[in-house]
Amino acid sequence: MHSETKSDLCQYDINLRFSLALQLMGVGGEHAAILTSFLDLPESVKWNRWFNVLEQYTHTAVEEVKVLSQQAAVEEEVLETINDDNYKVEQHKLEDDNPLHRIQASFDMGWQVRSSSNKYGSPTGHALLIGARSKKVLDSIVYNKNCTTCNKHMALTGSFNRLQKHYCLKNYEGTSKSMEAAALVKMLSRAPELNSVSVCTIISDDDSNGRAKAQHVSNGGKLAIHVEEPKFLAGPSHRKRVFARAIYNLASAPVKVSKVTKGLASHLKYCYGACVKRNHKLSAIQLSEKVYDILKHITDEHDCCDSAWCYDIKAKEESKVYNAPKEHRIDKVKDVLTYTQIKKYSTNTHVSNKWSIATIRSTHKRTKA
Ligand SMILES: [Zn+2]
Ligand SMILES: [Zn+2]
Repeated sequence: MHSETKSDLCQYDINLRFSLALQLMGVGGEHAAILTSFLDLPESVKWNRWFNVLEQYTHTAVEEVKVLSQQAAVEEEVLETINDDNYKVEQHKLEDDNPLHRIQASFDMGWQVRSSSNKYGSPTGHALLIGARSKKVLDSIVYNKNCTTCNKHMALTGSFNRLQKHYCLKNYEGTSKSMEAAALVKMLSRAPELNSVSVCTIISDDDSNGRAKAQHVSNGGKLAIHVEEPKFLAGPSHRKRVFARAIYNLASAPVKVSKVTKGLASHLKYCYGACVKRNHKLSAIQLSEKVYDILKHITDEHDCCDSAWCYDIKAKEESKVYNAPKEHRIDKVKDVLTYTQIKKYSTNTHVSNKWSIATIRSTHKRTKA
């Protein structure tokens, strides 16, 4: 790893691999110095500087690979969409003015600093557009509200005047939360030009701000008229999480407030997930009715239950009797409080908007900080 000049440093495969590994672990030059000194390698202190040189060098290559990989993913997504006979996506005709391929994708944003409830303070965030069928990244955006060079200059001189020319990392002004809608609008707007596709469906969490902005300017949004307004679908795993959070909040509340137990909460979460999975082709309203059947199920009314998730029905079909664990059932008459509390969440309509659940299973995963 010993090197005298920049080109020396970058021509050795081992140096590049070392630098990439550090980047993937989310650490930098300081850690490289510790690691190399511990391994008794020479000139370990120099790794502080060497890491920066290598990082800048690999950045260009990583960017190139990213672009190629995303282009290949878009091609794959287009092919899979055209050839999907189960869920047809209407395509433009060749004689149309705008024969872009229409594709469906899921969208989410992650921040480097964990947000708590409605507080978003992260200076950086990354957004991904993921193909609904290929499950591969089609487009990505990184937003950054800070730049060390700019910040230092501002702190020293009190203005941005006579700021030295530098590779500025700052590309976003505004709140961290607003990055999400901005990234979505940018990706939808550049998809036709960048990848010759039009994103007709977005599978996402219930971010109403993104939905409001991803409309034409005439409808109060930020999309230019030539960009298709996407239809929004909710990711099923997100819906399950919203429901489970509400029920588990009841379960961890004091007994005076709620008698919902952890066991009941866990059973409800299982039923909800299985029900959504089973009925994902239904409209939002139809699904609400189906989810309501879970409430009947825990009061021991199984007429509307489904053998896919209800053991009572399954046992009945096999002429057996199923004895459910006591905490999986509630008494509707004696325990009105618990019944009403769960009823509140036992429709799909308590979420802020009533999007249908995505029919194509999305790859929706929240990015951990
Ligand atoms: Zn800067
Ligand atoms: Zn049942």
